[in-house]
Order: sequence, then C-alpha cells, then structure tokens
Amino acid sequence: MTESSTITATAPATAAPAFEVLPRDLSPYRQGNIGIDYVHRFESGRPGPHVLINALTHGNEFCGMVAAAHLLDTGVRPLVGTLTISFANVAAYETFDPARPFDSRQLVHNLNRVWSAEWLDGPEDSPELRRARELRPVVTAADHLLDIHSTSQDVEPFWVYPAFARNSAAALAIGRPAVHLVMPGGLGSGTPVIQHGHFGEPSGRGAGMVVECGQHFLQASADVAIDVTRRFLAHFGLMAHDAAAESPVAARRFELLQTVVIKTPEFRFVRPCVGFEVFAKGALIATDGADEIRAPCEDCTILMPARTTIVGREGVYLSRPLA
Ligand SMILES: [Zn+2]
Repeated sequence: MTESSTITATAPATAAPAFEVLPRDLSPYRQGNIGIDYVHRFESGRPGPHVLINALTHGNEFCGMVAAAHLLDTGVRPLVGTLTISFANVAAYETFDPARPFDSRQLVHNLNRVWSAEWLDGPEDSPELRRARELRPVVTAADHLLDIHSTSQDVEPFWVYPAFARNSAAALAIGRPAVHLVMPGGLGSGTPVIQHGHFGEPSGRGAGMVVECGQHFLQASADVAIDVTRRFLAHFGLMAHDAAAESPVAARRFELLQTVVIKTPEFRFVRPCVGFEVFAKGALIATDGADEIRAPCEDCTILMPARTTIVGREGVYLSRPLA
C-alpha cells in the first residue's frame, strides 16, 4: 500500500474497472468444521480472545476472499484463543459476471444491513437472510470481528466502525490503514454486522470493525486485506507481529454525519465523484428529484458515492474531519 500525504482518488469515476483479481473456486473451503458451510474454526487450547475474520459480506469484494484463503492456505493457527474464518455471501460471489461486475454484491438483500433482530427474526426470506441467520451464532460467539470489504472506486483504504473507544483504540494500535470513518450514531441505513449484538452496544466487550481495502478488483486491495488481517490477529495476540510489517502511519479521522439514501431515479452528483471529495458548508453535492443534498459542515468529506442510481440504496456518506 502506498501512503500519500493527501487523500486522492487515482482513477476517474467513469473508468472501466481492471480485473487484477477474479473469483476463484471456493469449493475446497466449503466443508467447514463447525457444521456451517464456509466457516472454519481453530482453537489454540490456550486462554485468549475469539477473533472472527469475515470475508465476502458483499459478493464482489474479492480482497476479503484472498485474505481468508491466505489464512487457510498457509495454515495459520492461533497462538492464543480462537480463530474463526468465514466466507459470508458465497452465493452472491458465485454469480460474478465480468460484464456486470457490480451486480454480484448481493442477490436480494444487502447482507450488511440485516443484522437487527427485526430482520433476523422477521418473516422475510432471501439467500442473504438465510445466510445471516446461519452466521448469527458465529458472529455472536466472537469477541472481536474484522469484516473485510472493498470499494467500487479506487480510493485509499479506510476503517469504518462505531465510535466506541474500544474500536478506535484497536484501529489506532493496528496502525494501518491511516484513514478512519467513525460512526457516532451507527451506519444509519440498516444494521451492519459490526453493529450486531454486543458489537453494537456501548458497553460491548470487543472490537467490531470494517476495513475498506481499496477497489474491488485490484491486487493492491487484496494485499491490504492480507496485511490488515495479519495485523488485526497480531494485535489480539493470535499471531506474532510480522517483523517486516511497515510501521503505523498517522491517523486521519472522519466522523459520519449522515448516510444519504437514494429516493428517486433522478439522484445525481453535481460532478463525478469517487470519494474523499471535500465540499464547503452549504455547497451542493447532489440532487435527488426536488431534494438538494448540501454539505452540512465546513470541509464536508464524502465517502463511497454511489456508482449507479438504485432507489433505496446508499447514495453517499457525508462526514466531517476530526481534529
Ligand atoms: Zn462491502
């Protein structure tokens, strides 16, 4: 990963994606060892935390798959505590089509918005809800959770986590990536896995964090995913620290102010955006039918602008830099 002193996007919003990493056959990983497909658990036999490394919450975010397969292929075993490795939405992953590379994010529901009792115990059904119900005890059993994601645009990697001291302490100690998006009020558009159960409680016992590793299909993103996963495990004592690991970098933190959900097919940004663009207070960022989305603060920084307009999905995240 290359660090730069300023946050910049490296590709225009309209660029066609490069496919440096493509899906691989995950059937060798299907048979887990706790009775749930694509879930593998290793006990050290020594006291210590239970850490869950979760990949493919979104089916086209391949970096997590590379990191999870790396742990399994290299035979990583925890020095203390328990290590669980899961591939979450393999059903969506298996539908990947290079002609429509963003469609395999999910089949029906966003697997990262359904982790509330309302959805998990509710009457609806879909491949994602079935999988979330299957994975629920896996998530609940973990003390610490790293949920590995990537972004549609080629932007710098960043953490995303609820604004609890235990999360920021872990992210700062792990040291990379440098950018943190902290969520004082949660995500605001559903319940992600990092807000499920004890992970979403202010008095909760462990860290629950997303790492956004870069663009979905780039090798650099897979490299970041492996590096952050190994750092996360080392931080909690499950692995030795890599002697060759690069040193931590100064953190740059942003606070999520608002998650804008797309209301109409007319949702448009005022200019092409990839993420990390900065807007002055009151400046127009996007329009959505008759609605105007304006910067609610000075130096309003946007993250994860939608590539395409899909009503009901997130349009953009509005944040402010923290001193
Ligand atoms: Zn994702």
